[in-house]
Amino acid sequence: MVDVSTPDTAEHDAPDTSLLTVLSGPTAVGKGTVVTELRRSYPDLWYSVSATTRPRRPGEVDGVHYHFYSSEQFDAAIAAGDMLEWAVVHGVHRYGTPRHAVLEQLAGGRPVLLELDLQGHRQVREALPGARHVFLAPPSREELERRLVGRGTETAEERRRRLQTADVEMAAVEEFDEIIVNTHVSDAAAALATLMGLGEPSPR
Ligand code: 5GP
Repeated sequence: MVDVSTPDTAEHDAPDTSLLTVLSGPTAVGKGTVVTELRRSYPDLWYSVSATTRPRRPGEVDGVHYHFYSSEQFDAAIAAGDMLEWAVVHGVHRYGTPRHAVLEQLAGGRPVLLELDLQGHRQVREALPGARHVFLAPPSREELERRLVGRGTETAEERRRRLQTADVEMAAVEEFDEIIVNTHVSDAAAALATLMGLGEPSPR
């Protein structure tokens, strides 16, 4: 699923992978919320917009939240070597990182943030050694369980399955360079900014 072999203008110079941060962690830990908070504090931070085959949710904007691809478009992007990494997430839809834009930003010396599931984190670690991999952890298993069931829309069986998945995902913590515990979103976002060397946040 990884392809970094295709020659590309943005890659004539080896990318400075120390500028690249991958944020990952178990389902429902709050990765998306932390990233949204970080982007609010650092509006100039370049964030990779992923491609996905999942349908657009109400309020989501194509090109802002995701690039919404048909299955055929996703196939074509993979075939063209345009995906830095991609994975089937939650057993249904495909998600991937458009490769060219990431390498272009790194070549331009700008910090890059990717928010990926664990499969994506593993692929990027292989593809671009030297990146910083950050695991966002829940304060406790009980709290993760509370966040998982928070919406109250899952059946008991679905909750059990998700918790099992979360347990497997939590075991991946040792693969990471850094751990941030997501007790309060603003603190977790500030810790991520510090790790990324982003400096002072913009005044709101
Ligand atoms: P959602 O459908 O709720 O927006 O996202 C579901 C999951 O997909 C999240 O856990 C998120 O981390 C993961 N994800 C989003 N974009 C990418 C991507 O480009 N690559 C991979 N591997 N996972 C992604």
